[in-house]
Amino acid sequence: MTISPADIESIRKKFPVLHQKVNGRPLVYLDNAATTQKPLSVIESLDHYYKTTNANIHRGAHHLAHQATVMFENTREKIRTFINARESAEIIFTSGTTDSINLVAQTWGRMNIQAGDEILLSHMEHHSNIVPWQMLAEEKGATIQVIPVTEQGEWQIEMIDSLLNKKTKLVAVNHVSNALGTINPVATLIEKAHAIGAKILIDAAQSVAHFATDVQKLNCDFLCFSGHKMYGPTGTGVLYGKRELLEAMPPWRGGGEMIKSVSFEKTTYNEIPHKFEAGTPHIAGVIALGAAVDFIQEMSWSEIEAHESELLLDATEQIQTMDGLRIFGTSANKTGVISFGVEGIHPYDIGTLLDKQGVAVRTGHHCTEPLWNRFGVPGSVRASFAVYTTKDEIELFVAALNKSISMLK
Ligand code: PMP
Repeated sequence: MTISPADIESIRKKFPVLHQKVNGRPLVYLDNAATTQKPLSVIESLDHYYKTTNANIHRGAHHLAHQATVMFENTREKIRTFINARESAEIIFTSGTTDSINLVAQTWGRMNIQAGDEILLSHMEHHSNIVPWQMLAEEKGATIQVIPVTEQGEWQIEMIDSLLNKKTKLVAVNHVSNALGTINPVATLIEKAHAIGAKILIDAAQSVAHFATDVQKLNCDFLCFSGHKMYGPTGTGVLYGKRELLEAMPPWRGGGEMIKSVSFEKTTYNEIPHKFEAGTPHIAGVIALGAAVDFIQEMSWSEIEAHESELLLDATEQIQTMDGLRIFGTSANKTGVISFGVEGIHPYDIGTLLDKQGVAVRTGHHCTEPLWNRFGVPGSVRASFAVYTTKDEIELFVAALNKSISMLK
């Protein structure tokens, strides 16, 4: 069952930023894979926290400190349920996906990766799921292996068995590609990785807001995502890790909160998750991330998926026949992301003309340069949808795209 137009309208009322004109036209915001807009409940949660509660967490004996701690820890529990982790100690707050991946690379990675080991990535990874591993591989003398991507923008599945071997210590892949929208068959890869004794990290930045995530069912070792791509504040993110792995990992950033006791002779470290949360976090942001989880959970996953796939189908059908237009990522299994190029026109020029008509899309390499080198193009134009995107907006986008192309040809 999809979300009815009336419900979409009431959802849109919760997003003040959507109700404005850009360049004299109603804003059509189709850059949701970069960041989603925020509902009033999230904005008001930030505002309310600073107006009524602001205090540092975990350490204070006073009323406000207690309140702030309870609200902060409430979000940890909400995130635990949201991804179905076994316990809230397995949820570590970070500043985003990039931060979460770097944490794993600098702790689990530095402890477990040695010279001659292999780290398996895919050709459609975001730079933040490539560079931290390259830095680690360089330091340790390990090598990076890559799952190739087909013309349709899917993993070349038949290559996986030969890429996984006893030297593979870690596999790190996204669940959904930010550049193509492909939903990758991570469950199969998790099984295969475990069968050869490797650990596996899932970059869920582009999946958590679009379909249900169940870390116990997936059985992944680590899972990372950002608050700002799921209707929450920027500067918030999550690292999920299995308790036994997190406990065995050394801390990364040293400072307050992550310690049990400090002396110049010997410092001992706090329990998880606090061991990985040095310093004052984005308290207001984490509390507001809880409001973002509530917002998502007001809808059912089947409604969200049905709505976003209708938009995808609608937009794909309308633009795929345009002269010289090529869609990158034509898997049958996609979220609401359409990446495309038009022969003879630079993506940036299309993006600029769309913006003049009020349509916000992303152009460029979307932090996936290796992927575009594989396709032999500098990048793409990317339109990406969210729960508040309407069919009327797809019409406006298609009309604006037609106009832009005819002006540029
Ligand atoms: N991975 C993927 C798949 C992404 O789409 C992004 C954001 N574009 C990131 C990682 C990095 O997320 P952040 O910038 O929020 O750390």
